Amino acid sequence: MATQTKDYYSTLGVKKTASAEDIRKAFRKLARKYHPDVNPGDKKAEDKFKEISEANDVLSDEKKRKIYDQLGFYSDNIDPAAAEAAARGGYGGGFPGGAGRGSRGGQEVPFDFSGFDFSDFQSGGSAGGAESPGGGFGGSFKDIFGGIFSGGRKAARGPRPGTDLEYQVSVDFWSAVRGGVARLEIQRQEACQTCKGKSTTGGSIECPECSGTGQVTQMGGRMKFNIQCPRCNGTGKVQNGCPTCGGEGVVTRKEPLEFRIKPGTRDGQRIRLAGKGNAGTDGGAPGDLYLIIKVGTHPVFTRVGDDIHVTVPVTVAEAALGAKIEVPTIDTHDGGGRTQLKIPPGTQTGQKLRLREKGVPSAAHEGKRGDEIVEVKIVVPKVQDERSKEILRELAKLNPEDPRAELLAEV
Ligand SMILES: [Zn+2]
Ligand SMILES: [Zn+2]
Repeated sequence: MATQTKDYYSTLGVKKTASAEDIRKAFRKLARKYHPDVNPGDKKAEDKFKEISEANDVLSDEKKRKIYDQLGFYSDNIDPAAAEAAARGGYGGGFPGGAGRGSRGGQEVPFDFSGFDFSDFQSGGSAGGAESPGGGFGGSFKDIFGGIFSGGRKAARGPRPGTDLEYQVSVDFWSAVRGGVARLEIQRQEACQTCKGKSTTGGSIECPECSGTGQVTQMGGRMKFNIQCPRCNGTGKVQNGCPTCGGEGVVTRKEPLEFRIKPGTRDGQRIRLAGKGNAGTDGGAPGDLYLIIKVGTHPVFTRVGDDIHVTVPVTVAEAALGAKIEVPTIDTHDGGGRTQLKIPPGTQTGQKLRLREKGVPSAAHEGKRGDEIVEVKIVVPKVQDERSKEILRELAKLNPEDPRAELLAEV
């Protein structure tokens, strides 16, 4: 087992002689810089935050700091008296069954580290995750690493729920409007058939951590501590890993998936398929599958919620005199796809006219539909002949009002 030495003082950038106030200030300054809330998604900052929190947890506590100074590492399981004795190179009453076996330097001290999991300690734990740590700003080491000291590893061996899956699904414009079936291939973890999700087939092998001896060595300054192997709890044996899943309890499979798209499905909508996420291990419940709908566009129709927007060209005469025109709708099932729209006399370009209940059927409220909003776009004729020009000049004479009068009066 590798020797673990962490220089908490240099982690916080303080001297060994630093006062409690120096340490507090140094930690707060670094915590402000590296806190996960300030660096969302930044793994490096998260790791750094864990490091400084760990250093602060030990150095800000007078008793812990003393043990750390004496041994060069800290664990909750160390009795201060034992640390004191170890630092002096003798044996006080602190060691369980403490009896000297060597004289100096590499003395072997039986030491009870049960419950202290070095492998988790070194990897930094995973309790912090993507969320901000429970302790919040300046939260203590234990808040951040919640549970790694007491049975964290044991808990990992019990039933673990499967994680959720999220897939983005592209749905074309018409399928989203009228409903349909979407197909996609997903990759999910399924319970391993060989070990039934238990990660092991039940046999035991030599513990790789201690090579079957049941003991590992931990350095404390110049001292060597023989401690019970945390991985096998001193038995020297661990359960074998399932050969099919490599001890994961799950295998990754591609799976075709077919699901119904409701009429009126909106862009960005989230569909939850309960229990269709990754399988849990050792009897844990499966996660859920979330499908995020990405709705395609249409060259003529634009969807805004349950409303359909369409821009329709109108002639000058239709706009000025009023007219009944034909506009496209999304109802093409009866061969039509068009409806009559009355353009009132004096309609301006950009004006919006509403066709009630000609929009998209609502996915949320059965029987309801959105509206179709028609935006009028006046098309000016490109006149070539003299007669048309004459008529327009005459029209202008009959209607001498200045359309810019209001605009110019404003400035
Ligand atoms: Zn072991
Ligand atoms: Zn397996």
